[in-house]
Amino acid sequence: MAIVYLTGAGPGDIELLTVKALRVVREADVIIYDRLANPDILEEAKNGCEFIYVGKEDSHHTLPQDEINEVIYQAALKNDVVVRLKGGDPLVFGRGGEEGIYLRERNVKFEFIPGITSAIAVPEYAGIPVTHRGITVSFRVVTGHESKKAHSQIHWENFKTDDTIIFLMGLHNLDKITKKLMQIGKAKDHPVAVISRGTRPDEKTVIGTLENIYEKAKDLPTPALIVVGEVVKLHEQLNWFEQ
Ligand code: SAH
Repeated sequence: MAIVYLTGAGPGDIELLTVKALRVVREADVIIYDRLANPDILEEAKNGCEFIYVGKEDSHHTLPQDEINEVIYQAALKNDVVVRLKGGDPLVFGRGGEEGIYLRERNVKFEFIPGITSAIAVPEYAGIPVTHRGITVSFRVVTGHESKKAHSQIHWENFKTDDTIIFLMGLHNLDKITKKLMQIGKAKDHPVAVISRGTRPDEKTVIGTLENIYEKAKDLPTPALIVVGEVVKLHEQLNWFEQ
């Protein structure tokens, strides 16, 4: 009977793959992978392993999710070891839960393999700790994709007292996001970082404020995430990777 590993590939740097993920990649008969998963990982697969690309990033889905679910299911009918490789962690805006439910409903066995999420690791590579004693007691990870919907599920008022806010999938809505945060009372000079292609050799961090970050960062290449909060200022002292 087949097993499907719903596997996190980490944020980009191939060495941020877990030992467990590497093991299942080496055992896989088929690997179904995303645009965000570092393709160099596929070189670890055994001879004859089949690769299926279902790339998706932000709103540019190559395949709709229900088709991806079906691709995974079909692969499980024909193979023993199926690896579904996803950027970061499979359950942080990764839709791994939906894939798990689809498989469970069809009696296919699966396991989740956690990955290092970009939400924490990418700021870390930029020298921005998501928590720092004396500065933050919490951090929030939010989808930036929602903010363009007319009836967003996001309750911006709740963010008023947040220390650190990390937006994934937000670069295309950077203008809207910064305006919303100023509307709920965050200062115009509140620190913001946009980190593009984090943990990869071409990582780039742009630092600004709610007022000016849009102009400074809007043209950065994706994937990119946004960090809002006083911790951003620590970049000056802790920046290590982009030097
Ligand atoms: N499951 C993934 C997130 C998927 S949502 C995880 O845990 O990391 C996709 C979003 O993640 C992108 O739009 C971007 O905001 C962020 N992201 C993923 N990899 C990134 C990287 N290397 N650098 C910057 N942002 C990244």
